[in-house]
Amino acid sequence: MSDSFEWSDIWYSEYCLPGVKLSFKVDVLYSEQTPFQKIVFMKNEVFGTVLTLDGYVQVTERDEFMYHEMIAHVPMAVNPGIKRVLIIGGGDGGTARETARYKAVEKIDMVEIDEAVVRACEKYMPQTAAVLSSEPRLNLKFEDGLAFVKSAKDNSYDLIIVDSTDPCGPGGSLFTTDFYRDCYRVLSDDGILVNQQENAFYDVEREEMVKAHRKIKEIFPIAKIYGFNIASYESGYWYFGFASKKYDPIEDHRASEWEKLGLKTEYYNSDIHKASFALPNYVKEILQSD
Ligand code: SAM
Repeated sequence: MSDSFEWSDIWYSEYCLPGVKLSFKVDVLYSEQTPFQKIVFMKNEVFGTVLTLDGYVQVTERDEFMYHEMIAHVPMAVNPGIKRVLIIGGGDGGTARETARYKAVEKIDMVEIDEAVVRACEKYMPQTAAVLSSEPRLNLKFEDGLAFVKSAKDNSYDLIIVDSTDPCGPGGSLFTTDFYRDCYRVLSDDGILVNQQENAFYDVEREEMVKAHRKIKEIFPIAKIYGFNIASYESGYWYFGFASKKYDPIEDHRASEWEKLGLKTEYYNSDIHKASFALPNYVKEILQSD
């Protein structure tokens, strides 16, 4: 009988909860401890290049389109006239790549705390990061997103996208009421905030998601959550927050205007836009019981 394993296999595992882990068979390409976090790039035969920060999958070559299309095109299809974009985090460049596809966008300021993530992604993940050196409307700043937003002028952006790590590391400050208040102040009267808001299935992330939603809805008159499938993340399904001073993501969805732009997408479309705001009962209950 032949062995069903090889002694040489290296498996990377992300612990979802004690008793559950998500594992990838990998070759390690690069690893670096920065003052902020541990960066590791690996190669997996299904997902291609995988970036982890502090042991959590951030981006994989194979399914990054799901995350980056949903974080960028949902707000842009609600207001395709957005001109001034602020990205907080997003060091892999995928969110910048998708927002840069809009001709109406005049500037994209991207504030990433860890320059080492950008430099390593430029080398190991050019699929997402190439835009960071080629896009003339993009201004890259290496500083803490919380401090940046605190000192930014009122009404200076039409869209803020918080493409952050989880609240346990340097991303923690991006899940605070203080930060959300500054985002509100810095946004224009029809401004939109979209933020990475964890998953609803596993306890720790669920609590963070509920806390973030509670804080945001105390500040913004419109605060919703939308979900999307992503194969390489814990639970396979993830949520973003959508908050706005003016626009409801469904009632104000400008589907035909967005479709006329003719952008080719692999995940996002106008039906997915609507469907992503439909929440399963257990998620509705979690959010309502709060
Ligand atoms: N798609 C990813 C996810 O949710 O797993 C997020 C990807 S992106 C690589 C997250 C980035 O947020 C990281 O590069 C990290 O350095 C950056 N970041 C974390 N905290 C930050 C902060 N306080 N200010 C600015 N950037 C921050």
